Amino acid sequence: MTTPMFDLTGKVAIITGSTKGIGKAIARQMARSGAKVVISSRKADACDSVTEEIIAEGGTAVSIPCHIGDKAQLQALVDKTLAQYGRIDILVCNAATNPTYGPLSEIPDGALDKILDVNVKGAVWLCNMALPHIEKQKGGSVILISSIAGLRGSATIGAYGMSKAAEAALARNLALEWGPRGVRVNAIAPGLIATDFAKALTEDPVRRERAATRTPLRRIGEPDDIAGVAHFLASDAAAYVTGQVIVADGGEMVSS
Ligand code: NAP
Repeated sequence: MTTPMFDLTGKVAIITGSTKGIGKAIARQMARSGAKVVISSRKADACDSVTEEIIAEGGTAVSIPCHIGDKAQLQALVDKTLAQYGRIDILVCNAATNPTYGPLSEIPDGALDKILDVNVKGAVWLCNMALPHIEKQKGGSVILISSIAGLRGSATIGAYGMSKAAEAALARNLALEWGPRGVRVNAIAPGLIATDFAKALTEDPVRRERAATRTPLRRIGEPDDIAGVAHFLASDAAAYVTGQVIVADGGEMVSS
């Protein structure tokens, strides 16, 4: 039985980018805790397969494909969720892109536009579309997946880090706007997590070992390490937590 404070029974959760990696782990964790989850990414077949997995585990899920850089598709994601489940309680803005690697001084305009459109504008649009519906439910929660790359400098993924800093700032700003209306908004800043997104680092044994060694917990993260934090933030256990950036990085940011 789920502890009552962590019980999400009856709540409806949209999780963008939930066909693999961190988003999928969050969707499975929330479904196991009773939430009806909306599985979303750009690929319909990938959405269907995760939806089927969750239903096979006894959960409730629906597939609604959506490119988060496309405003019309984001509106359709909200509208179809309401048509399917009649409410939205939890929004996890998880999907993001990083099409470039190298110094900011050389970043192509197209890559900069893509990062800002998908990671920043997409999150603002989706929050603005979903929040008026989340407000109608008591105890609604929005979670933005930021990154420790938004909390420190980088000579190689600078624009991505700027977009992740913007998501942390968005959580603070929306917490002020929506707190009086009963909605909490927080961000999670993961460290290095073993997903396809980070496979250049995590699948190279030398780089993986180096990353683990500089982390006090002596390992890189797994998607479930972030799913637990997202579950906490979505639940009544975090009823007095808003406007925060929770760092989940095995302690990397506090080591010298
Ligand atoms: P991942 O395993 O590559 O999964 C990304 C998910 O997002 C997939 O479901 C992908 O599905 C979807 N997606 C990608 N672009 C999309 C778009 N434009 N519209 C809609 N869906 C899209 O990545 P991850 O590592 O789990 O990353 C999830 C989040 O964690 C990101 O915000 C990332 O910045 C953050 N993060 C990751 C790490 C890390 O080390 N992995 C560290 C810090 C923060 P489709 O391809 O089917 O669209």
